[in-house]
Formats: sequence, C-alpha cells, structure tokens
Amino acid sequence: MRPVFINVGERTNVTGSAKFRKLVVEGDYSAALDVARQQVEAGAQIIDVNMDEGLLDGVVAMRTFLNLIAAEPDIARVPVMIDSSKWEVIEAGLKCVQGKPIVNSISMKEGEQAFRDHAIKCLRYGAAVVVMAFDEVGQADTAARKIEICTRAYDILVNEVGFPPEDIIFDPNIFAVATGIEEHDNYAVDFIEATREIKRTLPYARVSGGVSNVSFSFRGNEPVRRAIHSVFLYHAIAAGMDMGIVNAGDLPVYDDIDAELREAVEDVILNRPQRTNVSNTERLVDMAPRYKGEKGQARVVDLKWREQPVGKRIEHALVNGITEFIEADTEEARLASERPLHVIEGPLMDGMNVVGDLFGSGKMFLPQVVKSARVMKQAVAWLEPFMEAEKAGKPREQAGRILMATVKGDVHDIGKNIVGVVLQCNNYEVIDLGVMVPADRILDEAKAHNVDIIGLSGLITPSLDEMVFVGAEMERRGFDIPLLIGGATTSRTHTAVKIEPAYRRGSTTYVVDASRAVSVVSGLLSKTERAKNEAATRDEYIRIREQYARGQEVKARATLAQARENRFHIDPAQPLPGKPSFLGVKAFDAWDLQDLADHIDWTPFFASWELIGRYPLILEDEIVGEAARDLFADAQVMLKRIIDEKWFTAKGVVGFWPARADGDDVIVFADEGRDAEIARFHTLRQQIKKSNGKPNLALSDFIADAGDDYIGAFAVTAGHGELEIAKRFKDVGDDYSAILATALADRLAEAFAERLHKEVRTTLWGYAADETADIDALIAEQYQGIRPAPGYPAQPDHTEKATLFRLLQAEDHAGMALTESYAMTPPASVSGLYFGHPGSHYFGVGKIDLDQVEDYARRKGWDVATAERWLAPILNYDPYAAKRETAA
Ligand code: SAH
Repeated sequence: MRPVFINVGERTNVTGSAKFRKLVVEGDYSAALDVARQQVEAGAQIIDVNMDEGLLDGVVAMRTFLNLIAAEPDIARVPVMIDSSKWEVIEAGLKCVQGKPIVNSISMKEGEQAFRDHAIKCLRYGAAVVVMAFDEVGQADTAARKIEICTRAYDILVNEVGFPPEDIIFDPNIFAVATGIEEHDNYAVDFIEATREIKRTLPYARVSGGVSNVSFSFRGNEPVRRAIHSVFLYHAIAAGMDMGIVNAGDLPVYDDIDAELREAVEDVILNRPQRTNVSNTERLVDMAPRYKGEKGQARVVDLKWREQPVGKRIEHALVNGITEFIEADTEEARLASERPLHVIEGPLMDGMNVVGDLFGSGKMFLPQVVKSARVMKQAVAWLEPFMEAEKAGKPREQAGRILMATVKGDVHDIGKNIVGVVLQCNNYEVIDLGVMVPADRILDEAKAHNVDIIGLSGLITPSLDEMVFVGAEMERRGFDIPLLIGGATTSRTHTAVKIEPAYRRGSTTYVVDASRAVSVVSGLLSKTERAKNEAATRDEYIRIREQYARGQEVKARATLAQARENRFHIDPAQPLPGKPSFLGVKAFDAWDLQDLADHIDWTPFFASWELIGRYPLILEDEIVGEAARDLFADAQVMLKRIIDEKWFTAKGVVGFWPARADGDDVIVFADEGRDAEIARFHTLRQQIKKSNGKPNLALSDFIADAGDDYIGAFAVTAGHGELEIAKRFKDVGDDYSAILATALADRLAEAFAERLHKEVRTTLWGYAADETADIDALIAEQYQGIRPAPGYPAQPDHTEKATLFRLLQAEDHAGMALTESYAMTPPASVSGLYFGHPGSHYFGVGKIDLDQVEDYARRKGWDVATAERWLAPILNYDPYAAKRETAA
C-alpha cells in the first residue's frame, strides 16, 4: 500500500510566493490569512510560514502572523512549520504557536554544539524539528553524504539530547537536476536513495523536502515544472518520503501527464541511460518549450561555472553579480583558509580586482559594479561572525577612509551612493552621512573618524554656496585632508573659482563622475604620487581661474531697460489659452502607478547609472548594451513590485488662477475680477545682446498684460515611501536595489509631471483637447505650452518655489516640503508653472548684470546681497570684486 503523503502548504512563504510577500509587506494581514486558509482548504496538512525577506522585520512579521492564525480555527487546525534561516525568528515563532509546532530547520552547519543547543530548545517547546542534511563541511549532495549526516544527527538527537525520534523530520536536500552539469544529473536519485536508507535504518524518523528546487532550471515554464514535481514525488514517496513542501493544488496526476513528456522527465529524474543521441537533459530542454503555457519562457540557467574551484566561483559570482551561491562558496573558502580574514584578503579581493580591472578597461559598467558590491557585502557579512569570534585577529586592512555627505539643504544622493559603493568595492572604508548634512557635522565626524578624505555632493545650485562654506570651515578649523566635489550642479570651473580659494590648506578636486572616483581617490592617497597629483590639480585650477577671469571681461550685456524695450510680445492673432475647467487647486492623493510607469522617459534612467545613450537604442548598443539590458530587466522587475506592492504613493496637486503680467512679474488673482492679488511670480529677463530682431525673453512675456489670461502650477511626487524602501535595502547590504528604487522613484515623479501636463492640456485646462501626442512626442515635449521649473534656466531662482508651494498648499495636498535651499522633499518630486500660450517656449536667462539684480531684489523685498546669493550662478560679475571696489 502507498504510504500517506503529507502536503506542506508553501504559499505562506514570502520567498516563494510574490503574492503573499506583497500582502505581508503591505501589512495586509487579513488577506495574508486568506492565503493560509486557501492552503488548508486546498489540502495542505501543515502550513510552512516563512518571513525571511530583506524588507521585513522577520521577528515581528512571524509573531504577528502566527498570533492571527491562532485566532482562526479553520487555519489553526493544521500544524505550523516555522520556517526561517534565522534562529531568532524561529524562537519568536515558537513563542506564539498553539498546538505542536514544527521548526524548519536546524542543522550541524555551525557544528554539533549549536545543533544540540537548538535541539534542546525545540524539545522544551515540544516542537518537532526538520533537520537539514548540512554539516560543518557543507550541504550533502550524494546519497552517501546525506545518509552519513542524517545518521550522525539522529544519533545526537535520540541518544544524547533525548529527542523523541518520531519528532525528527529529515530534509536530505532536494537539488536541481537538468542544469547542464553532469554531476547534478544524479541529484534526484541521490535524494530518493537516501530517503529509502534513512527510512530503513533510522526508526520513526520522517523524510521531507522542498520539492520545487528539483525543477529550478526550468524557471518560467510552469507546466514542465509541475510535471517534474509530480514524477519526482511519485518515486520519492514510493521510497518513503513522508511529506514535502509543495503546492498540492497545482500538481498533475502522474498518469495524466503527456506520455512523451513524462518519459523525458522520468529519464531525467531517475538519471536513466540516454535514449537518443542527446543527453536526457538536452532532450527535456528541447522539448520543454512545447509545453510552456502562454506566459514565460523556459529559461535554463547555465551552471557550468559551478564546476570550477572555489576561488574561480567567487570571482565569477562577483563579476556577474550572482548572490545565489555566495554564502556557500564563502563558507567553503573559509573552511579551507586559516582565518576568515584571509577569505576577504584572498579570493574576495582577487575577485574584486578583476571587477576593478574590467571596469577600468571599460568592459564593466556602474550597475554591474554595484551588483558586484552586493555580492561582496553578502560574503563579508557571512564572515563577520567568524571574525568576531576570532577577536584576537587584526582588523581588515583598508585602503583608506572616506567621509561622504550631501550638503545641507540638498536631498539627492543617487550619485553619491554609487560613488560610495564603487569606493567600497575598491577596499576603501566609506562613512556616508546621508543627505542635508550641515558643515559642522561633516567636520566633527571627519575628526571623530580620522578620515583621509571628505567628499561633498549636491544637486541644486544653492548647494554650490554651501560647498564653498564647508571649504572655508575646513580652512578655519585647520583641516588639511583632500576635499572632493561632485554632483549634478558642480563643475570644474566652480570648484576652481569658488571652492579651492576658500580651502588653501588642503587640496580640492572636482570629480566629474562616479567612474573617476577610484582613480582620483587612489591618486590622492598614494604616498608617492599624492604631492604630484595635488600640484597638477592646483596648476590646472589656476589656469581655469585665469580663463574664467578673461571670460568675465568680454561679455557686455544689454542694460535692463534696453532688454525690457526688446521684450517679447505674444502674437495678438493667436488666441489666449482660455479659461481652465476649474480655478483654484485640485489634489490627487494616489495617482495610478501603472499609468505613470507607462509614461516613463527611460533615457535619463540610464544616465543616472552613467550609461549614456538614447532609450531604446541603448539596449542594442555595442558597448553598453548588455549592461543596459540587464539593468533594464532588473528595473522592470522592481517596477512591477513597486506597483503591485504599492511601495510608493504618487501624490500631486495642480492649480489655475486668473493672471496678468506686470512688467517682469506675473500677478496671480483670487478670482476673475482680477483685483485681489494673492501672489506674484517674479521672473528674470535675458540681458544678452540680441541680434537679428530676437527678443530678450522673460517668462512673464508669455502672459497677457491685459485681458483674461491664466497661469497654472503643479507639484507632484512619487517619493512617499522611497526613503523607507531605500533604507530597508541598505540595511540588508543591498545598495544596488536601494539605488535602483530611488532612481525609479525619480523616474515615476518625472513621468507624473509629464502625465499630469497631458491631463492639463487636454482636460483640466483643456486648451488642447484634441491633442494626440504619443509617448515619444510627449518625451520630446512636442505640444503646446511649457512647465518651467524654478531653478531651471528660464527661472534660475529656486526661492520662487516657496510661492508655488504656498499657492498649491503642496504640503497639505501632496505632503511635499522645501528645505532651506529650496530642494523638494520627498526627493522624487517635480514642480513648476504652466504657461498655455502657443508662443511660450523654454529658454535660458543667461548671465545678468547688477542693474537687474538690484531691480529683482527690490521686487522680492530682499537686499542686494541676498539677491546675489540666490542668483550667484547667473551673475555677470563677481559680487566680491564689486564690493571690494565700493569699499575702496
Ligand atoms: N522627460 C524628462 C523631463 C525632464 S527635463 C525626464 O523624465 O527626466 C524637462 C523639464 O525640465 C521641463 O518639462 C521643464 O520643467 C524643465 N525645463 C527644461 N528646460 C527648462 C528651461 N529652460 N527653463 C525652465 N524649465 C526647464
């Protein structure tokens, strides 16, 4: 008679079920309970609960879920298998299970003593245990090793600990077959044979296993996977397998499987002699696509590299960013080394050197390097407990210590984070203070940690000034270590002209992009080359300052009066855009993320990883194509999770008001009476001398100074949730995913701005109701009207965002705020004005003279020095020189 097989429900497992993971991550425990209930209804006699996911606090999630199960009689009638690789999660689970729990799993991988300790604890809780066939040497693969380990474990449990043998469940490891590696061909047979032997020689013990592993190489082809599971179980159960983690409702009956497929599967599972001129694996691989459903493709993973020696495997994992086997490989290397530190200094650093060489020679690119870093971090995290246990050991030698920070008032850190990871990969210790860091904190921490270099980052123009301030503070406080400058708004010229002169005691170097960071840093920390490199940079910056000074003299400007005389007039023949569908503001508290995803402009996404090229052509690019494709694929997978699991919330607000130009200002009125002014936007006018009849533009020129005209404004964000998500990834050492999530939040925010603008043109304002621009036309901004953003070339003054935010009540309506430098938070945010007139277009204000600065200061209610501070990037003169003259 066939023995009774116990199905262990596998769907309540965050690593195995995307749906369950999503529910738990979102905290939707009642729906998560439904998953457990469905499992029981579908015939699961035990449910396996696993909360091992980087984004979750496993202890809390396990406790919460088990307590909820306890209150549901229809679920609580089956035992729970508490599944975790973390003992603390298992203990948390043991404390809340009612009835007899099963612990999944314990093993001898950390030696016999830890195994005994865990077993004794399980015994106290009255729990049954799953014992993995895993010892100090590694996981058992052959039948002989499986039997050997299980026999030793049985002996310890029964004869030493006094564990009831009927509460022991062995998991002799089900490994993937049909991987293309010959040594794997016998894995299913090894399991089946070990099962038979364990059942024969270890009385009362049971045998279990995670069934879906066996078909791992057919990921994406569910029908074939199910057939493999069914055939495997047919034979394993016959050999005595008592239970298994499996999706019971999903298994075809052995006899119902298509005969040809079943034969091919059976040949693979039982490792029978091949019938044709190709191997059993190849035959099944060839056949598999025919059985594939409409979704997904049979993807056979090439695991040939697993046959190499461990050092080569570690190198392969680092170069290819594969985390799957890194803990096992690191462990193997550790066992072969005298000290755990030697694994870092040996195979891991060797592998990272290969990564560094490939990167340096342009064969690897930033996203790949950041993925390598993730592998490295996992390996180091695995070794850390062993290094701590060693205590006496000398600390790891690092190449230098670098402090990095995004300066006060600024919130962006994608570039800085990439640089940090790349430096870490090259064995530098990085102390990252995050964003919005005031100068004194940067310098206090630099002192406290005795760092070798300080790196500053910034995205918006006010940060330039802040960097000058940090430089001056370094000078004042007597620092002499190198200062590095990077980030979107920084430049070699600004560094040479403004920052370096403020910090004379040490060197200042502009780092043009993340891929240059390592060579700059190593050049500055090299004992032999440092002086030479610093001198070269100083000389270069002297030249840049001279060049800059020469450039300053030549560009005579039009006076403000002349520029105004030459203003742009909207064509009276063209109609004004007309009255919007509503006046005042309208908020959106959760715009559909899928809709936003459909409007993403991907080109800047690649640029944020320093992959330069236009999407989609970049995917086929001869040089960066492969890196771009992999990055894009990872982005799609994460984007789907962002949408499905609602990682981010897209909030926005849009408003329209009656408006009228008043010189270079735009007056915003409360209502159509146009007599109650509620706000005033200040704009700046080009002062460059124009030829051939071109006007000197200001944004106010695009609004009528008489009649019924309107202006609009918007503020949108996709960033609610981005900081939390990024932090969770970082906390588990996954900087790649943290940066990816942040970059995608930025993309969604830009897409939101584009999508909302379309809604504005076609509906909300409605001046272009018939527009049919497709996504390419949208990205090229081929439509009527513009949405200039404060801080951009048409209005470089970031402080105008205060007026925008006040009118829109952006804080209340979209949860958005401004920092002291007028950066928006959350970081993934966009705001701007709407001009609807067909004549409106983007332009750059360019450099302006003191006459306009004085006029602007008066209109803003500022003194001239304040205006000079906010307009610093566009001044056509050196305000300090001007002051020196007046003083003289
Ligand atoms: N599709 C791009 C859009 C960003 S850049 C992305 O997804 O990243 C285009 C936006 O920058 C414009 O819509 C406008 O808001 C702003 N912009 C560009 N040039 C500008 C200028 N000269 N003055 C003011 N704003 C400008």
